[in-house]
Amino acid sequence: MRILIISDIHANLAAFESVLTDAKGEWDYVWCLGDVVGYGPDPNECCELLKTLPHLCLAGNHDWAALNRLDIRTFNADARKVVLWTQETLKPENIAYLDALPTTFVLGQYTLAHGSPREPVWEYILDPIIAALNFPHFETPYCFVGHTHTPVIYKQLSERGDTDAQQPVYRQPAPLNGHRLIINPGSVGQPRDANPDASYAILEVEKHILEYRRVPYPIHLTQERMRRAEMPERLIARLEHGW
Ligand code: ZN
Repeated sequence: MRILIISDIHANLAAFESVLTDAKGEWDYVWCLGDVVGYGPDPNECCELLKTLPHLCLAGNHDWAALNRLDIRTFNADARKVVLWTQETLKPENIAYLDALPTTFVLGQYTLAHGSPREPVWEYILDPIIAALNFPHFETPYCFVGHTHTPVIYKQLSERGDTDAQQPVYRQPAPLNGHRLIINPGSVGQPRDANPDASYAILEVEKHILEYRRVPYPIHLTQERMRRAEMPERLIARLEHGW
């Protein structure tokens, strides 16, 4: 079975559609690691497209913000403005969809969380030290997370917890075997690794073979829709720079 692994769509329909077109016919099921909405102009469209796919999806912090489940004073002013817009824009059936999302999943050899296995909705795994602290918090060999919008693989090198970070190589399927790993596929709708292309991965579950991918998408379409919705200019500009 081949899994399309996506995260942090952030209501960016053009990016989401470009990923689906790029991966067409190459997967059987979708694992979405959360933050379907927030930041972008298409929260309903992204929920509705995701719902048409065979998938499971986790809750992210922006999904919870859209549900008013958390204190949005922890968000910066620009993000907060779009949270309020998203709350007003989401249809009741899409609110109900987001409301039902779980915070973790364990499937065979894989644990899934939005942020981290230790704090599934909140924690950012930003470096090998934080990754090392998270290995004791899941039991499977492999864990997928999103949340930082940066594709990376953290590898546990020893039982003592030594951990390193590896940058993905794109369009080169590679086996995962040998070490415990925390794997981030990057973000579909708001990459932050100085590369604006949508990021995703394809996993061959039984063989444990992972392929990272990037795909350009029509950023201007998303930006035009954001301008029409009078979203903050900083959020509009960042998409084309990948930060
Ligand atoms: Zn996010």
